[in-house]
Amino acid sequence: MEHVIGLRCVWCGEVYSPSQVQYVCPKHGDDGNLDVLYDYDRIRHEFQQHGLADVQGMWRYHALLPIPRDAMVPPLLVGGTPLYDAPQVARKYGVRAVSFKDDGRNPTGSLKDRASALIVARARAQNRTMVTTASTGNAAAALAGLAASIQMPSAIFVPATAPEAKVIQLLVYGAHVFLVNGAYDDAFKLCLEASHKFGWYCRNTGYNPYTSEGKKTVAYEICEQLSGGRGTFKAPDAIVVTVGDGNIISGVHKGLKDLKALGWIDHIPRLIGVQAEGSAALYQAWKDDIDPAEMRPIETHTIADSISAGLPRDRVKALRAVKETGGAYVAVSDQEILESIPAMARATGVFAEPAGAAGYAGFQCAVKAGLLGKNDSVTVLVTGNGLKDVGSARRSVAEGYRVEANIDDVSRVVSEIFGS
Ligand SMILES: *Cc1c(COP(=O)(O)O)cnc(C)c1O
Ligand SMILES: [Zn+2]
Repeated sequence: MEHVIGLRCVWCGEVYSPSQVQYVCPKHGDDGNLDVLYDYDRIRHEFQQHGLADVQGMWRYHALLPIPRDAMVPPLLVGGTPLYDAPQVARKYGVRAVSFKDDGRNPTGSLKDRASALIVARARAQNRTMVTTASTGNAAAALAGLAASIQMPSAIFVPATAPEAKVIQLLVYGAHVFLVNGAYDDAFKLCLEASHKFGWYCRNTGYNPYTSEGKKTVAYEICEQLSGGRGTFKAPDAIVVTVGDGNIISGVHKGLKDLKALGWIDHIPRLIGVQAEGSAALYQAWKDDIDPAEMRPIETHTIADSISAGLPRDRVKALRAVKETGGAYVAVSDQEILESIPAMARATGVFAEPAGAAGYAGFQCAVKAGLLGKNDSVTVLVTGNGLKDVGSARRSVAEGYRVEANIDDVSRVVSEIFGS
């Protein structure tokens, strides 16, 4: 059986049994995020008996996930993404080592697949027949794709103004797409109401406490890949994570805390949260030491739509992740984010959407600020694939060479590029 022993409210500390509450602390309503608590002794015991599962991808860490041992998991390969060492980048920026975790390689193109795979597995284990979420982007695509992989229907609520390309991905997967005449918050509330009314299992970020439990597997993988060994773990000195609602950075933190509690790593890396300047609620709150309870929604403007959040839903956990690890928040401009798309692609071969490339911009910013230095081994988490937003990528690069269909014209251009 699974090893969850309780759910603790991040606001009031009240602990509930997993069967007692499904999503949030009843005293704190829709905002009452919960921490999922585990019995580490039992996990250690199960690990001694069975070891890590001998499968590719996130289900390798089944014993540390909140689903029954015999649960049916979706067939798509989620996780198991590559970690690329980039010594050339480390030299250029004067850090000891830097690696890039390419989570854009997941089946629907973003790290969100890790959360959706777990949610779909839990829905199936609880005999739910339908899953739902509100999202403008990657979370929705991930849920639609993972649900399709087990022929479970999904209902997705998006603002009617959502970018067409993102809506198309949902429709292709066969999701029932509700185009809400309103903003993201309206779609979010409507999704909760529909979930209650029709009994659909709800994945909403910062509401369902289990999304970050799926996302934490990226931290396990980074540490296992850095140790080079199978079944052994080694933590880097710092991990750079882009932040919108704060669910990913919370998940990364949780994964590291799990490994530390099990004694599988000897220290927890500093977490560097990267926000867009035009959506920097957590950066501001961290810098000015504002209590998360005092935070109010701000207007956001950024090209990196996946990290745009006026009042981050996971603000308590996201601030805690940085504070408890001795990390920092940095904010990068849209110009820096745009430039980092080709810069990272050319330095590493990894093409990211703006919210993914922002991690590289944040890495550079943290080096400049002296937050990362010559003794540090750093991992930059790349959260989403560049093909998700070709329009932004186009704005970051020059055009190609226009030539007539003859070799003389090509020669003319070649000599312009390389000299003759
Ligand atoms: C969702 C997302 C993020 C931010 O995750 P939060 O949990 O909202 O902080 C970053 N990058 C990409 C590509 C995403 O899809
Ligand atoms: Zn509470």
